[in-house]
Amino acid sequence: MKKSRALNIYFLPFFAQGHLIPLVQLARLVAARGQHVTIITSSSNAQLFQKATGHDIDVRIIKFPSAQLGIPDGVENLSSATDNQTAWKIHAAAHLIQPQVEDIVKNSPPDVFIPDIIFTWTKDLSKNLGVPRLVFNPISIFDVCMIQAIKTHPEAFHSESGPYQIPGLPHPLTLTIKPSPGFAQLTESLLEGEDHSHGVIVNSFADLDSEYTQHYENLTGRKVWHVGPSSLMVQKIVEPPKKAFADENRHECLTWLDSKKQDSVVYICFGSLTIMSDEQLYQIASGLEGSGHSFIWVVHRKKDDEKWGPEGFEERMKKEKRGMVIKGWAPQPLILNHPAVGGFLTHCGWNAVAEAISAGVPMVTMPGFGDQYYNEKLITEVHGFGVEVGAAEWSISPYEGKKEVVSGERIEKAVKRLMEEGEEIRKKAKEMMDKAWEAVEEGGTSYNSLTALIDHLNTLGPTPTPPNGNH
Ligand code: UDP
Repeated sequence: MKKSRALNIYFLPFFAQGHLIPLVQLARLVAARGQHVTIITSSSNAQLFQKATGHDIDVRIIKFPSAQLGIPDGVENLSSATDNQTAWKIHAAAHLIQPQVEDIVKNSPPDVFIPDIIFTWTKDLSKNLGVPRLVFNPISIFDVCMIQAIKTHPEAFHSESGPYQIPGLPHPLTLTIKPSPGFAQLTESLLEGEDHSHGVIVNSFADLDSEYTQHYENLTGRKVWHVGPSSLMVQKIVEPPKKAFADENRHECLTWLDSKKQDSVVYICFGSLTIMSDEQLYQIASGLEGSGHSFIWVVHRKKDDEKWGPEGFEERMKKEKRGMVIKGWAPQPLILNHPAVGGFLTHCGWNAVAEAISAGVPMVTMPGFGDQYYNEKLITEVHGFGVEVGAAEWSISPYEGKKEVVSGERIEKAVKRLMEEGEEIRKKAKEMMDKAWEAVEEGGTSYNSLTALIDHLNTLGPTPTPPNGNH
């Protein structure tokens, strides 16, 4: 039965940009539909989104267990980590915060709890306190289907070298390199977070992965709620396109892009976490220079001192007005939406993929770790709106440089193919963009799915009064 008041909903995002950004966007969308939304997070993580969200959501601050973990104050997000050890500590924090979150939920129980899937312990909390829980999965349903198929068909990987055909999926798909067993273990424990959840919320839209959603729902019996692309939903519903492009504080790269022809620039970014080896950066630099195309490249390195590109690369590119290197945080959605950007060399992080689709920018795919090897297949083999570079090695870490590097020649060839002969690929990217826009319009599939989700949340409960009567 529908409740006569607004629902009180708690969101718990994980401490990484790729998790935090889409879940905060979902929280904003739910708040914009008149529900009372609270985000539980640490103070540094709150600072990453509070300026944008303003007063439409409440924030409950918990203490990040820095001292307990032995990491410096303020290092509370994976994007501030530059090595595996710090990253593992931030992952450990996801468990250490449990008592604090339990106290908040116990003392003032919400109607619904929406945590990131990574907080697997929330299933017991939800059961013990009688609070309905629905998890947010920041990776794609396509990835989950790939993970399940690989798990159930180990025979597909018997040979020493690829390509490996993946059986049991809606499309015949191939992986050129073997998934690492470490990644399988990691994702299987992660997917336990879906148990006892009233479905799974994803940052996607029906036209992008409907066959895989059906496959997943048949396999698990769990309902998938598509509420994306969340960045587009937010832009459309909560925050209509501002004067971002006209803003005087706009990033200098946007002004640089103004001087370029339509679809003539390649944007390169490997997400918020990846730190590549200097050898790999060198190969990318030579590939870009060799391609002859203009580019904007976001480079993340541990240090900012040593030379990493070919001799005189940065100076030459600057002088010729051919390339811009950004060292730091780039306004990615704005860059992708600039008319001059005609291609995206991407690591295939799920948010990057959703943002590129929303902007109609075709991709050159070069996955770096984890689920990104699978997303590449959705882009290139299932939908054909990208050109595959692939990877030389399977990694589960974004920080440790791989032993094998992808050659500059491979990158150059793929960039040229997209920018010079990519008519058909570009057309497919624009068609998928149109579908994404249709999905977020009033009456579109994601718009309706958000309505149905809130209606469904209204039917859950009622939240029982905890034994101590402290409501
Ligand atoms: N991002 C950004 N500027 C940067 C790097 C990343 O705005 O310089 C954003 C990007 O738009 C995306 C998120 O950070 O929303 C990264 O998530 P994704 O899933 O693409 O990759 P991850 O960082 O998790 O590898």
